[in-house]
Amino acid sequence: MRIAVFGTKPYDRTFFEEANGAYHHELVFLEPRLSPETAILAKDSPAVCLFVNDDGSEATLKVLAENGVRLLALRCAGFNNVDMQAAQRLHLRVVRVPAYSPYAVAEHTVALMLALNRQIHRAHQRVRDGNFSLQGLLGFDMHGRTVGIIGTGAIGATVATILHGFGCQILACDKRENGRIVELGGHYVDFARIWRDSDIITLHCPLTPETKYLVNADTIEHMRRGVMLINTSRGAVVDTRAVLAGLKSGKIGSLGLDVYEEEADLFFEDLSEHGIDDDLLARLTTFPNVLITGHQAFFTREALQQIAATTLANVASLQSTGTCGNEIHLEPFPRP
Ligand code: NAD
Repeated sequence: MRIAVFGTKPYDRTFFEEANGAYHHELVFLEPRLSPETAILAKDSPAVCLFVNDDGSEATLKVLAENGVRLLALRCAGFNNVDMQAAQRLHLRVVRVPAYSPYAVAEHTVALMLALNRQIHRAHQRVRDGNFSLQGLLGFDMHGRTVGIIGTGAIGATVATILHGFGCQILACDKRENGRIVELGGHYVDFARIWRDSDIITLHCPLTPETKYLVNADTIEHMRRGVMLINTSRGAVVDTRAVLAGLKSGKIGSLGLDVYEEEADLFFEDLSEHGIDDDLLARLTTFPNVLITGHQAFFTREALQQIAATTLANVASLQSTGTCGNEIHLEPFPRP
């Protein structure tokens, strides 16, 4: 099938071309991100492939549907950027990659924790500057610390497994209990207990109306003073303004972000010659106890191989059988 691949970076092309050896789809690589303005580029392609910061709003989907697109193949797990109600109304089928190397994101999450705790980012700068002073670099043993994990699906459970190896105590919160957490000696508790008892809080739930701003001024108020907060899920699970206030007051001791609520116009692009025109993000980067990466947690060779292979297999499955186990259904799909 002809697939218009929006927001293509050189690494997408490499992994998709390699995986396509088994499928022989016609891949049309497009650099622009998907938006109402660029959607017309998909004309004559029955399938469109999109990523986390592509615009899957109703306005975009209408242009796609009017131009013959029938299938949206997300090359990611989260689908908060696609208006699923509009997709249903327009008879656009949507598939995604629900699971790929949970190790990629989990290991990056733990990398943020360790780097923040031992201040590796600051130590690196100091040593390069010939400054070997340890003053201000004091960390803590991870062993024995309590980590609150919100969302214990594939990634959250993998984070728990790694941290269990460090000797951390695991507290977890999820609508569905995962047996792996219990096996590790972790305890499912309510949010109040997560906020109250965690030295480190790490977010691994999807962005939904329910989880939007889950971390806000009120919940931060209930956290331990000096808590470490890590978010590798989706930016808007955290109210960034409230987190900034928490950093200023010292309530939040350190912050690790791989995602940011306003990342769509920033992340994945080289803006080094322009500077950051987002004041909130710019302010966050001034704190020594804040470490930000630009949505790179998924970015391992293994993850990209799995993402490309699953995306192309999803399209092939719908094409040949009319069904796909990775299709997103809100309600039974209304057939045209
Ligand atoms: P998953 O579906 O396996 O697990 C998500 C878990 O969150 C589920 O167990 C679900 O029950 C739970 N959950 C849903 N609503 C909740 C709520 N209100 N409170 C508590 N728990 C809730 O997904 P996953 O593969 O583990 O991915 C988790 C999230 O990580 C994704 O939704 C995505 O947003 C994010 N992600 C980020 C990157 C990255 O590169 N930074 C890459 C992949 C995924």
